[in-house]
Amino acid sequence: MEKVYQYIDENLNRFIEELFVLLRQPSISARWEGVEECSRLLVGMMEKIGIKPRILPMGGKRNPPLVYGEILNPEARRTLLIYGHFDVQPPEPLEAWDSPPFEPTIRNGRIYGRGSADNKGQFFAHFKAIEAVLKTIGRMPINVKFLLDPEEEVGSPSLNGFCKANKDIFAADMALNSDGPMDTSGRPRLSFGNRGVLYVEVNARGANTDLHSGNFGGPIPNPAWRLVEFLSTLRNPDGTVAIEGFYDNIVPPTPKEREMMARIPFDEKKFMEKYGLKKFTPPEDVSFMEKLMFRPTLNIAGFTSGYGGPGSKTVLPCRATLKMDMRVVVNQDPEDIYQKFLRHVRKHGFDDLEVMMLNIYHPSRTSVDHPLAPKFTEAIRRGFQQEPVLVPSGGGSFPGAAIRNILDIPILSIPYGNHDENNHAPNENLVIDCFKNGIRTTAALFFELAE
Ligand SMILES: [Zn+2]
Repeated sequence: MEKVYQYIDENLNRFIEELFVLLRQPSISARWEGVEECSRLLVGMMEKIGIKPRILPMGGKRNPPLVYGEILNPEARRTLLIYGHFDVQPPEPLEAWDSPPFEPTIRNGRIYGRGSADNKGQFFAHFKAIEAVLKTIGRMPINVKFLLDPEEEVGSPSLNGFCKANKDIFAADMALNSDGPMDTSGRPRLSFGNRGVLYVEVNARGANTDLHSGNFGGPIPNPAWRLVEFLSTLRNPDGTVAIEGFYDNIVPPTPKEREMMARIPFDEKKFMEKYGLKKFTPPEDVSFMEKLMFRPTLNIAGFTSGYGGPGSKTVLPCRATLKMDMRVVVNQDPEDIYQKFLRHVRKHGFDDLEVMMLNIYHPSRTSVDHPLAPKFTEAIRRGFQQEPVLVPSGGGSFPGAAIRNILDIPILSIPYGNHDENNHAPNENLVIDCFKNGIRTTAALFFELAE
């Protein structure tokens, strides 16, 4: 390992220059700008390292180019599948950036640029780990496959279907995802799962135009009241969700998962201060972490109707819109929750509301007792020289379920981004030390998994 680590140290500046080439190529999936160019750029980079790349068009109108890669050793016993995504979020507002988003710049030990941390810099660390092993040891101790998603920032709409139809290509013993930030304490983290999400929009309509609330008010129904009535059916007085079957199939934390949650560094008082909070949601006997990782939510993400500007406007609105996201946990199925939501709408007599499902991600979790998990922990220790924070499940959502549930490969996440990476925001950045320790961790993982 010493030889590999020395190679990483000696070549780090060149690695960063190469990453800059990738960061200069915009790949904004939301408006399909540069995504195809970026896939071709990756193919060239992978070939140069010795990874065999292939662009796999995922079909449909846009035919997004999934970038697949493999480096196989006939003597290797295990195969690791690495998930990453090469599309990025739109960079706007441009004026809020201290340096242009697609002109990567180093300041104070950080690489600034769109995609530096989310996710180009993080999966590029895996590329460079392979290069470092090949240049020093001469061959890979395990097989590695890459699945680089071109559409993660728009919800990976093609991934589930593509994985279903192409299971064999991606076959592996274990999968790794490096995305998102490290722990706020500055320590690295190893995460075993994620919540899923179901996003719905509900519309209520009144008259066919906004009306004067005096000249028309009284006989004319107000769609905002209709949504308020609907909302009031969704929750019990104790804060639980009143949709029938909403809590079905939830798997409570195991004793080991509880132990992990208890060890996550978290200062409740400081957290409340930071966000200006006086209390958390009930029930009080369920911990912050358990609510975040093991319980589903029903969130009002937006409620729009009538007039919300300064001063008064006496309007009787013709339309009201509600946006709701539901974070779901293992073993809930967001499509099943959507059916239960629709049943609730009908059961309570709200057939006049228009309900739409906007997007879903399935939840995913890998057992904290997975026999290969300690190898990931050890790789992080060697790479970062720090003890990782073990997280049974992240609160957010990502396409990991395609790998966990469709490809049936256990997946673990090791984020290489600093906790203040500003992903999706101006001045996105990756701390160079995190990038370097990430390369070290991936290289160590190859050897851990070979044993
Ligand atoms: Zn992102």
